[in-house]
Amino acid sequence: MNKIKKSLAALLTFAVAVILLAGCSSDGNGKSKSKDSDKVKVVTTNSIIADMTKNIGKDKIDLHSMVPVGKDPHEYEPLSEDVQKTSHADVIFYNGINLETGGNAWFNKLVKNANKKKNKDYFAVSDGVDVIYLEGKGDQGKEDPHAWLNLENGIIYAKNIEKRLSQKDPANKNFYKKNLDKYVARLDKLDKEAKSKFNDIPKEKKLIVTSEGAFKYFSKAYDVPSEYIWEINTEEEGTPDQTKNLVQKLRKTKTPSLFVETSVDDRPMKTVSKDTGIPVSKHKLFTDSVAKKGKAGDSYYSMMKWNLDKIAEGLEK
Ligand SMILES: [Zn+2]
Repeated sequence: MNKIKKSLAALLTFAVAVILLAGCSSDGNGKSKSKDSDKVKVVTTNSIIADMTKNIGKDKIDLHSMVPVGKDPHEYEPLSEDVQKTSHADVIFYNGINLETGGNAWFNKLVKNANKKKNKDYFAVSDGVDVIYLEGKGDQGKEDPHAWLNLENGIIYAKNIEKRLSQKDPANKNFYKKNLDKYVARLDKLDKEAKSKFNDIPKEKKLIVTSEGAFKYFSKAYDVPSEYIWEINTEEEGTPDQTKNLVQKLRKTKTPSLFVETSVDDRPMKTVSKDTGIPVSKHKLFTDSVAKKGKAGDSYYSMMKWNLDKIAEGLEK
């Protein structure tokens, strides 16, 4: 990636946002107040957190989600609309643990520019999960952000979201709590199903191979080990050394399928497939984004169900 180009783009976005904000404040006293103005204004960093928030806030919130569906939330350049919505938000939800705050740390810059304060205006929905750390050279001590791929953690996320919405909007506290309870019951049921799902698959076939090493939390929760080409999307993705390394590991296993995620380049995994003779599943997995509206995987619940079903199906071969 061209760092200079990226910085220029960021600078431009910021300049546009400043102009927009200046324009807004000189606009007069809420003349253009929309019918949504009494709702809690919520901003989320990505589509997974947005979907959880929708399940709890429903029509009582005015929601803006930043990273588009299908795009990588690790590295992102906020648009002027994102900067504007963040500045005006009542509450901002982000994943934390080295997702939007890793790599180019786009979220840190965004909230700083918008003059928002941690645990007052913006909250890490991962707060309270049992963090797993990266293992690669130079990455030791850094958190693995993909905690949501364990449904038990998804439930922690949902509870954190409900807690903050209720604080910001106590008039609707009961509404949020009722929605949370219903949502948690659905996630909990799926989690229990998931835990029994992989029992019948022979041990030597149990391996989830993906491009990014996003499945550590999933592996731990559902007792299926995982391997990857690169550990996290903020690194170089799919270098010849990385693919060679994985190919060598796979020669010692009997795993029947490789997987590609929806939000990454699928070419490195195709190289691994060619070199090992193990086919790539035609069903892409969801890690860092939900699917487009109307498609299978278009919610957190449905992306988790899809992943569980397709992984089990691929490993049963
Ligand atoms: Zn990721």
